[in-house]
Order: sequence, then C-alpha cells, then structure tokens
Amino acid sequence: MCGIVGYIGNKRACSVLIEGLKRLEYRGYDSAGVCVFSGEALHIRKATGRVAEVEALACADRDIQAGTCGIAHTRWATHGEPNEVNAHPHCNHDNRIAVVHNGIIENYVTLKQFLASKGCVFRSQTDTEVLSHLISEFYEDGADSLEEAVQAALREVSGTYGIAVVCSDEPDKIVVARKGSPLIVGVGSDEYIVASDAAAIIEHTANVVYLNDNEMAVITRDGMRTMTVDNVPVTKEVQQIEWSLEQIAKGGYEHFMLKEIMEQPEAVRMSLGGRLDLREMRVKLGGLEKVSRDLVRARKVILTGCGTAWHAALVGEYLFEDLARIPTEVEYASEFRYRNPIVDDGSLVIALSQSGETADTLAALREAREKGALALGIVNAVGSTIARETDAGVYLHAGPEIGVASTKAFTCQLVVETLIALMLGRRRFMSQPTMDQYMQALTRIPEQIERVLEQSGLVRQIVAEHVDRDNWLFLGRGYNYPVALEGALKLKEISYIHAEGLPAAEMKHGPIALIHEGMPVVFIAPRCSTYEKILGNIEEVRARRGRIIAVATEGDTGIARYCDHVIYVPDCPVPLQPILTVVPLQLMAYHAAVARGCNVDKPRNLAKSVTVE
Ligand code: GLU
Repeated sequence: MCGIVGYIGNKRACSVLIEGLKRLEYRGYDSAGVCVFSGEALHIRKATGRVAEVEALACADRDIQAGTCGIAHTRWATHGEPNEVNAHPHCNHDNRIAVVHNGIIENYVTLKQFLASKGCVFRSQTDTEVLSHLISEFYEDGADSLEEAVQAALREVSGTYGIAVVCSDEPDKIVVARKGSPLIVGVGSDEYIVASDAAAIIEHTANVVYLNDNEMAVITRDGMRTMTVDNVPVTKEVQQIEWSLEQIAKGGYEHFMLKEIMEQPEAVRMSLGGRLDLREMRVKLGGLEKVSRDLVRARKVILTGCGTAWHAALVGEYLFEDLARIPTEVEYASEFRYRNPIVDDGSLVIALSQSGETADTLAALREAREKGALALGIVNAVGSTIARETDAGVYLHAGPEIGVASTKAFTCQLVVETLIALMLGRRRFMSQPTMDQYMQALTRIPEQIERVLEQSGLVRQIVAEHVDRDNWLFLGRGYNYPVALEGALKLKEISYIHAEGLPAAEMKHGPIALIHEGMPVVFIAPRCSTYEKILGNIEEVRARRGRIIAVATEGDTGIARYCDHVIYVPDCPVPLQPILTVVPLQLMAYHAAVARGCNVDKPRNLAKSVTVE
C-alpha cells in the first residue's frame, strides 16, 4: 500500500533509495527502512517516523554507504503497530534474505502457523514477515535460485502484494513481483530503479516497464528478465513516463481528493480482503475474535464519531438494527461524555475514526470504558491511539487518506460496519440464505463503484449548471438519509456552498420554506421501500420550481420525468446502497469546488486529523 524503492547500478544505492523514499513521502507512511548489500552481507536500518531518521542512520553506516544494490520501504501499517521491529525490510532466520512488501497477505495466520511448526521464530507482528520465512524455506529446500524460491512462496500466498526481495547468496540481484499493488522498473543506462510509484524513478529515467498482476522481474547488472509468477516468460515493452513529478504524486489526478474518490473500488477490495469467506459463507474478522462471545451477548450498541465518521455511524444504526437486530444509538463523540450517557457492561461502544486520533472520539471512548462498556474501534490508521485503547477492533485497510475531505475512509467504514452487522446478525437471527445474498452482493460492490465513477464527467456537467447557487438541499430516506447529510457536508467542506442534508419527509416541516426557483435539491432516491414516498417529495420541490438532481437505481427511467438530472447507480440490496449512492455526491462536491476555484485538498479552516476538543 505504501512505498517500495530498489536500486542496482553504479551509484551509491543508499542515496538513490533514500531520495526515492522521500519522493514517496507524500503518500503518507509511519515508518521506513533500507537494506543494502555490501561486503557479502545485507545491512539494514529501520526507524519509525520520518525517512530522514533512516537517512541519518544509514549515513553513519559505512557498509550501507559502500553498496550499490539495495531495497527500501515506507510502511503504512496494516498488521502490527508502526514501530521499528515491524518496519520493513523483513528477514529470514539468518538474515540472508530480505523482503519489502506493499499490500496484505490474507492467509498470513495459516502460513505463520505452518512456519512456526517448522521452527520459525517470528520477530514482528506483520503479515509480511511470513513471506521472508516462506521464501527462505523454499530456498533452503532445494530451489535453484532466489526467483524460484519467490515463485514457490507466492504460489502459497493469497492477498495482495508488490514485493522486492534480495539475498546475500545472490548479490546484485533484485527479484520483484506484483499482484494488486503496483510495481514499476525504471530502465536507466547501466542501472535499474524499482519502485511502487513513478515518482521515485522519474529523476533517474523516463524509461519504465510496468509489471502487471502476477508478473515478476529478475533484475541483475546484466539485464532484466520478466516472467509470470508461474515462470512463463513474458516480453515487456519499455514505455515512457509522460507525467511531471507533481502529476505523478497525485497518480495523474489533479487532486488527492479525486485520486482517493477514484481509489474506492480498490480500497473497498482491501477492506473486504480475506474477510468474506466465500467457501464457508461467513464473515471472518480476526480483530474481533477475542471478544466474539461478548459481542453476541451485547444488549445495545452505541456508535460514536465526528463529522463524516458520525454519518457512517448513522448508517451503522440502520445496519445494526436491521441486519443484527440489536438496539443501536448514535452519539456525537463531542456530546457523549458531557451528557452522562447510560452505558453499562451490556453496552458495546464502537468508535469510528479515520486517523484513530480524533480527540473527541477518543474522549468518548474513554468515558465508555470507564463505565464498563466493551469498546471497539473502526479505524484506518494502524496502531493509532484509538486502535490501542479499544478492547478490539477492525481496521479499514483503506490506505492512507491525504485529502482533508474524507471519501474512501467513509465508504470503507460502511463496508466494515456491514461486515460486523452481518457477523452478529448471523449469530443471532439471520438465516444462511440471507447471509449468502449479502455476501455475494458485497463482492460485487467494488465493480459497481467503478460503474458509478465512470459518470464523473456527467456529474461535472450537472454541477456546472448550478455551481453559482449558494444554497443546496440534500434529501434522502432510510439508509440514504445519512448519505444526504454526508453529501451536504462534502459540498460545504470543500466548495463553501451552504448545504443542508435532511430526511426527505422532514422538508415539509420547515425547510420547504427555503425552496425557490432554481434552488438545487439533490434527492438520493434508489429503489427501496420508501421510493414512492420520495417521489412525492420530489413533486413538492418541483411544484416550487426547485432544480432536481436525483441519484437513482439503474433501469429506473421513469424517475427522469420528475427530475432535471438523474445519476444512476447499480442495483444492490438496500443496506449496501449508501456505499454506492454517496459516490456521486463526493464527485459533486469535488467538481463544485474545482469550478469555484477552491483549494480542494486543503479547504480553509479544516485539518485532516482533529486532535483538539
Ligand atoms: N501489510 C504490511 C505491513 O503491515 C505492508 C503494509 C504496507 O503496504 O505498507 O507491514
């Protein structure tokens, strides 16, 4: 998920590697490490915090300074806290093999048990470390080369990876492979630079080879061979990088926010990764195993968070009551501890926070624990304070989110809440066939988000017609009521247009007074049990000459008659709808902000992680 750099050539590897890591810093990371081959051994330096700290350590190490071949990494923890031991590279038992890895090894627990039974001792808590031991097993067990051992190991692995591997027995060789996590090889004159992101390559060469999923490369001073992980040779074309550094940092997108909106299919795949067991048709949440009995016994759930996470909590209320039949309340984290809430040892308090450092949410969590509740976290940043202070939790695995306005963390929060609700529901009331339907539907969600994203151009055109309007309304019902709130918040945050979100039926109790000719009103109106009612609400706005933009279910051509614009989302079970219906609203806010010339990634007065009360 984060950054890989590798180098083999005539220059001092350490400087190329460190410069490369610095180029990848924009992606967000929590620790870093380098490994350079010199004097017949691998020399490794790691540190938590900034790349500059690894640089200082490496500069003071003569061996590292001497080498001309090595690998390096910036880690964004998914398994195990961000600390020095968990930072990459990870080595085998005698430090002859070192691995850097981006992604998640989903079956690492099984592999770890297998390796432990063969006597492997693990030093870190990471999923990555199993790779170094597994490669080592095959290497010592008769593989003819490092690449053969890597191939054998990757055959045993499920999950996603971009990896770079070196071995002191085969100096001046780097083996790289990818599946679901990017890897590029820069081809310079007498040198190769490997990276997970072109930003680390561009200052050395514009000639690159892009590896596809299930492909690998063996790079030596004499050249590069490419093949599939099943060892079928493949011929790769050398291509030219045409982007500037600035563009590359944002993956070719103009803003981080757009990049993160577009990354949602991948982010959701990561959130679901290894958690939907489609063979046994059950949800597996490793982070909750130790409290699974208490969870089933919980008498009520309290979801708490701030801003976008609070909206995710509101969707959670529907999910937990509907799918798991547990009484559920949602609390603003900032209000929770000041109003002396009724919490006891039958309460399950779930705190949602992208950063895991939100001060209000942390305070609510502490209050809940004080009162004897079981506290869970739904957090993106591994090892963050909230993650550490909860009894158990589920990470989002959405990857770093840089744009201040949260997008992919929101959709992944919804995914994780759905997984927890399904797990509890199945243990309490839900039948297996119902469970099966939801699980199948969840597997289709990433591809369905892709279909929504394809309409970004249409959303931009629609927004362009209304962007001069300073007041917007967002209306939805049921599961889509919190989506209306989130749509309004996104628009406010980054385009500074005033917007309100409401349950659609509430409009007639007051806000209808605001409706006047040309006022944009966004209806989130996919097919659901209140569909006919929302058509009635649309009529009410139409009668007052508001401009109607609807988000509706694909195939619902009838709704177009009542609306000025319709954006379609694929059909899915109602509890999953918010994951799809929020996406056009994120795009709407984004295009409005761009059209109004706002600073999308750094909106005025806002901070990414709100660590003050
Ligand atoms: N899953 C690995 C870890 O937690 C890799 C994380 C990353 O992509 O940076 O160490």
